Order: sequence, then C-alpha cells, then structure tokens
Amino acid sequence: MKSRIYLDHAATTPVSDAARAALVEALGLTGNPSSVHGGGRAANALLEGARDTVARFAGVAPEHVVFTSGGTEAIALASNGARLAGPTRPRLLVGATEHSAVLQARDDVVLLPVDGDGQIDLAALRAALSEGTALVAVQAANNETGVIQPLAEVAALVRETGGLLLLDAVQAAGKMALPDADFVALSAHKLGGPPGVGALIVRDPESLIAIQRGGGQERGHRGGMPNLPGIAGFAAAVSEAHDWSPVATRRIALETRLKAGGAIIHGEAAPRLPNISSIGLPGVAASTQVMMLDLEGFMVSAGAACSSGKVKASHVLAAMGLGAAAGEAIRVSLSPATTDAEIDAFAAAWLAMAARLGRKGAA
Ligand code: PLP
Repeated sequence: MKSRIYLDHAATTPVSDAARAALVEALGLTGNPSSVHGGGRAANALLEGARDTVARFAGVAPEHVVFTSGGTEAIALASNGARLAGPTRPRLLVGATEHSAVLQARDDVVLLPVDGDGQIDLAALRAALSEGTALVAVQAANNETGVIQPLAEVAALVRETGGLLLLDAVQAAGKMALPDADFVALSAHKLGGPPGVGALIVRDPESLIAIQRGGGQERGHRGGMPNLPGIAGFAAAVSEAHDWSPVATRRIALETRLKAGGAIIHGEAAPRLPNISSIGLPGVAASTQVMMLDLEGFMVSAGAACSSGKVKASHVLAAMGLGAAAGEAIRVSLSPATTDAEIDAFAAAWLAMAARLGRKGAA
C-alpha cells in the first residue's frame, strides 16, 4: 500500500502522546468542577492546574484565561463581548485576509485592505481608527500563507487611539513571540492538543461580557461545564516545547526546489511562520492539484480547510490581488516531526505534477 504523508498541519496536527495521556486520565475522573464534594474538588483542581499551565504559556496570570471550545469561539466571544466604555460593542475592524472565524464573527465587520504580501494596510487602519475607537482583530500569522502581520505597528496604532486589540494567535502560538494584546485567541488542536478546546486570554476581565451565560463558569465569562479532558490535553500540549528552526529550513529548501519547477510562493517577501507555504502552480486549479497529490499519497489542502470539503478560490490570495491565481495554490504545512525523506518525496511528486500539468511543462 502507498504510504500516506500528512502535510496539512495547519488544518490540524496530531494529538501528542502527552496530551492524549492527560486527556484519557481526565476522562477517568468523575466530578463537576463546580461541585463541592471530593470529586468536584478534584475536577476543579485539574481545571485550575491546567489554567495555570496555559496562563504560563500565554505569559499571563491564571485569572486571565477563559477556556472555550476552540479558536472560533474565543474569537466570537471577544468580537461580540468586548466592551470599551459603555454598554455597546465597539466597531470591529478586520484585515481582509483574516480567518473566517473573524470575518464571520459579526455581520458588521469593517474590512481593511492588505498589500500584495498579505500584510494589513497600516494607512487604512490608521484612517479607520481616526473615525473613533474600535476593536481591531488581527491574525498573528495567516493560516494559508503563514504571513506574519506587522504586529508591533498594529498594536501601537490601536493603543494610540484607545482601542482594543484582538490577536488571533491560533496558527502562531508556540511558533513565534507574540505582542501584548487585549484579547488573544488560542486553539489546542493546532499545537498538539485535542480538537474542540481553546482559550481566550483576556487582559482586563472588566472589558469582556459573557456571550454564553448559563451557570457563570469561567468567572462569569463563559457558562457551561468546561471540557475538562480537552482542557487537560490542551495544557499537556502547551507544556511541550518544539524547535521550529529546522522546520523553517526544510520549508525554505522545499520552496527553492519547487520554484525551479515553476512554483510561485505567495507572501514570500513577508516574514512568515516556519511551517506554512502557499504554493501556486499557474494554470492548474487547486482542487486538481490536491486530488492528484492525494492520489500520490500526500495530504495537503487548497487554502484553508473548509467545512463543506469544497475547494473555493482563496479569499486570502484574492485579497492579496492574485486574481485567477487565487484558485491555483495549495497550502503545504509541516510539523517538527516532518522528515527530510517526506519533503523529498513530496518535492518529487509536485515536480512530476508540474511537468505534466503546469504551464511550464505544457510549453
Ligand atoms: N483562526 C485561524 C488563523 C485558524 O487557522 C483557525 C482554524 O483553522 C481558527 C481561527 C479557528 O480555530 P478552531 O478550529 O479552533 O475553531
């Protein structure tokens, strides 16, 4: 049987052994953290221990961690629950290459343009902020291209105008240093934890109202029994340090080889995460590339993983001004466990595909 090589770690990455063990152990514990009996107290101790661990990872005190069902919920909570002075929610300014979790968080998002490398247009942000304070949602790094935003500049502009900053760190956490922000969204399944759990880091608990109220859990910020096994797995995953520099070296070597065969690397000129590459093959639909590579045993994606399983032209690449090329790129994303042999095999398969289908090969 043909071996299967997984190069879609930005979609989700395997649950680490430590996270799996912590999750299974927590499943064996019977008790609601809100109960006062012994079982409840044990569950609460596990929950608060995990909160301490995630807080250390995020560089904050434990009371600033609100556990959620993942990155999407963390973003929805901040987007809808953030408050400046007064009871109404602030305007929400977002970059055009944000994840759909941000773009769809509200009906009234104000879209800001990005440049050809996918970095937010700082002049447009400044102009939008001059119209009044706002919540600005910006991704630390993009999930399709790995492009890192000019975070220090964005944070400074938001501060100057007295606004709030929501940092979507779902792809970036653990892979790069993050700036201070009012809210930071994290997701466990992108960093070796289980799916369906994440956190919103909240700098000032007074600046957030609950969207899901219920029983007042998470210090009133998120009602409902917390996903204790998932949270235990999340904490175990963030306790593991990874060395990302060899991953960047492998990614760059791969890009160099593919460029010689006609590939275009989107966002190449901007600083990027170590593990994500957006690889265009002119004239070949992304869906065709993904299917051909899948037949050869390689799991990659066409832009973001979409719930419908359909491949649409990437809104990220379209916002970067790529036109038809927005539908002709695949995302390859590596993990620290990706080997040179896997990269070699992928490069050979991609180059063979390009020679058969690409404009260069057809010429
Ligand atoms: N933000 C970014 C940049 C992402 O890549 C994702 C997931 O792909 C999310 C948010 C949503 O996170 P989750 O899958 O935990 O809801």
